[in-house]
Amino acid sequence: MDDGLKCPKCNSEHVYQDGMLWICPECAHEWNPQAEGGAGADAADQGVRDANGNALSDGDAVTVIKDLKVKGSSLVVKGGTKVKNIRLVDGADGHNIACKIDGIGAMNLKSEFVKKA
Ligand SMILES: [Zn+2]
Repeated sequence: MDDGLKCPKCNSEHVYQDGMLWICPECAHEWNPQAEGGAGADAADQGVRDANGNALSDGDAVTVIKDLKVKGSSLVVKGGTKVKNIRLVDGADGHNIACKIDGIGAMNLKSEFVKKA
């Protein structure tokens, strides 16, 4: 058995790597094992929840629920902006979602200001 990577959603072993991400062809889940701390880290419940209390996970798509100023710039992420393929991170300042937003680039968000799309 190699490192035994399985789909964290459906437990399928038929997963394959695409760049940084792993993809499960059976349930279409995509995730980044590095962001989860390596194989088997799925049991660690990071407990990141959106504004409605829904659990978020790597690869989810979310919608920003209010205008957010981007720190250190004059850019604003408008409420209603869709953000695909988020990554959960352990942001010391409460910014627990890493993502990339069209027109803005890579940034971190607080889960309390998004809802699961
Ligand atoms: Zn799966």
